Amino acid sequence: MQEQPHVNNLENEDPQQPHVAALFSLVGMSMTAIMGFIGLFNRNFILASALFTASFIYFLGYYAFKKFKNVKLSSAIVLYSLYLLMFYLIFTGGVENTGPLWIFVVAPVSVFIHGLKRGLIDIVLFFAIISAIMFIPTDIVTHATYSLEFKLRLLASFLTVTFLSALYEYSREQSYKHTLELSKKYQQLAHFDPLTQLSNRRDALHILQREQARIVRNKEPLSIILCDVDHFKKINDHYGHNAGDAVLIDLAKIFTNNIREQDCIARWGGEEFLFILPQTHAKNANDFAVKIKEIIQNHLVNYEDEKIKVTVSMGIEQFNGNHSIDEIIKMADKYLYQAKNAGRNQVFPKI
Ligand code: GH3
Ligand code: MG
Ligand code: MG
Repeated sequence: MQEQPHVNNLENEDPQQPHVAALFSLVGMSMTAIMGFIGLFNRNFILASALFTASFIYFLGYYAFKKFKNVKLSSAIVLYSLYLLMFYLIFTGGVENTGPLWIFVVAPVSVFIHGLKRGLIDIVLFFAIISAIMFIPTDIVTHATYSLEFKLRLLASFLTVTFLSALYEYSREQSYKHTLELSKKYQQLAHFDPLTQLSNRRDALHILQREQARIVRNKEPLSIILCDVDHFKKINDHYGHNAGDAVLIDLAKIFTNNIREQDCIARWGGEEFLFILPQTHAKNANDFAVKIKEIIQNHLVNYEDEKIKVTVSMGIEQFNGNHSIDEIIKMADKYLYQAKNAGRNQVFPKI
């Protein structure tokens, strides 16, 4: 059935970015506000205004996230305003030339917010700009001056922190991907049969329960068809178990190719399949079942050099919502039993 995903929607979107952006905008807002007050206290009004402006920008970043759920905008505001503040601190020196010490925040925040690739590109640009600011001769542009040793050590330690942050982010991304793959795999196993890729019995029951609620609302009946391969044990015994598996896979393909978008076909048991046909009266289900039965009886399964002939028997029951799911399956099973007794390759009841 097309609505298959009761499978959780664990899309590839990494959930880290929104949290880091929101958290960092709050931390950034508080830190810059506190530093702004210290600046005021020290009567460094220009630095204080720069810090209060940054604090306000972080607030906007947080607001963009909370109000509009705009993670990209909020991340960009947080990250690039941090960069601007760093450029300003390096350019002016901040308090007693200690401004550049804050640049170490940039590496982890960049990779946490923008991921490894984009974060590293941002950091390279940041690195180029801060190097330019520090190394431009003061006779061209007046800015804070630092000793050559300080500049070189600052840049080297910044690169070291960048490397460690990138390494951490790389392993975090890898383990996130791994967890995502495992989760998809387990969800697949929980809902689908690994051999035929059809819904499994559990999934079919879940769909039936959902359809039952819909029938009660819409008063439109659903039909189920229980379909069992005839003399399947003989196929296994004669051609081998792998050939038997190939037959099941082939049948699953035929079924899938012939159902409507809204129908569901599940592997109900070993060589037994369950069709769930919403908004279908027993008469129409019967026509459909006869059509499938004929397709299969005229089909040969190719397995290695063998051509295997298969037939199926089917039992049909209409579900009006006034019985339990168990009861309608029992009824379909009863008709399937009658089809077997009547010589197999049959659809029961005859309508
Ligand atoms: P009938 O016409 O009465 O349905 O006879 P049958 O031989 O189909 O029914 P029976 O229940 O006696 O045998 C079913 C066989 O299906 C037995 C089991 O080994 C085989 N089977 C169940 N699951 C699988 C599977 O996944 N692969 C293969 N190859 N065989 C399976
Ligand atoms: Mg059988
Ligand atoms: Mg069987």
